[in-house]
Amino acid sequence: MPDGCILGECPVCGDLIWECEWDITSDEKMVHEKCLLEAEFNKEKTDIVVDLQQRIKKKDEQIQGLLLVIRDIEQGANPKFYRDRVNSIINL
Ligand SMILES: [Zn+2]
Repeated sequence: MPDGCILGECPVCGDLIWECEWDITSDEKMVHEKCLLEAEFNKEKTDIVVDLQQRIKKKDEQIQGLLLVIRDIEQGANPKFYRDRVNSIINL
């Protein structure tokens, strides 16, 4: 039987956290001791998904920029004026 005060709700399992069973994650969220490993795993999972989404967004912006360059050149723009622009898009 848990004792002490209720400190909050565990973001991992949703149950109440009692004073005798709390722990803290590396990003300072209160969880049950028994839920700590799962909380850290979930954080790593979220971090890598966010990182990959940001990388995909950046690549997508590069592709959109390069497609505009292709469109301009296909419509008759002089390609020699696009070298710097292409380099700046690639180096975003
Ligand atoms: Zn929990």
